[in-house]
Amino acid sequence: MRILVVEDDPDLGEALQLRLRRDGHAADWIRDGKAAEEILRQQQFEVIVLDIGLPGQDGISILRALRRRGDKTPVLMLTARSNIEDRINALDIGADDYLAKPFDTREFEARCRALLRRAQGLASGATTIGDLTFDRCAKTVMVGDKSLNLPNREYRLLEILIGSMGRVLSKEQIAQKLFDFDDEAGSNAIELYIARLRRKLGNSLTIRTVRGMGYVAEHDSRKSP
Ligand code: CA
Repeated sequence: MRILVVEDDPDLGEALQLRLRRDGHAADWIRDGKAAEEILRQQQFEVIVLDIGLPGQDGISILRALRRRGDKTPVLMLTARSNIEDRINALDIGADDYLAKPFDTREFEARCRALLRRAQGLASGATTIGDLTFDRCAKTVMVGDKSLNLPNREYRLLEILIGSMGRVLSKEQIAQKLFDFDDEAGSNAIELYIARLRRKLGNSLTIRTVRGMGYVAEHDSRKSP
């Protein structure tokens, strides 16, 4: 998933970005409120982690602008432990959750996971398609009773495809979700990852190429139960 972290504290911002990347996400980190506001008008993220006190523009006004545009991207606000007003304000404006500083990064990760699941409208975190089971909590992919060992990129590509079952995704749409701004991989890399996924998934999931359009994941019930 692609996540934006807006945090001006260099140590915390870097730590959160690292943690999210290690967790397999594409994570961008912005320190300035104005720059974040600009990016959010151009780029879609699955989750936004938003600090309140920021240079340029504060987190509350960024959140307000986002919701006024009708953007429903889940937002996790980072607030000061002592400031109850900020928390109430953030929730009233449309933040989905908040974390009071200082916090344990494990709690941060768990809350991000919960928001990602909610964003995909999945309460349990596991999706079953035929004999394929994709479990976001356990980070496992099973075909029947066999566990598939997928590297990060392939795992996330599969997550993106499963999140849009039956809908065609263009290479650009996939690239936007798969890569962050620091990533140098181009959309050609997507063809490679698709080929690898197809080989590993076998008949359990069909990833069909739609010429000139992109890719679509489909379950063919004739091939597997
Ligand atoms: Ca701050």
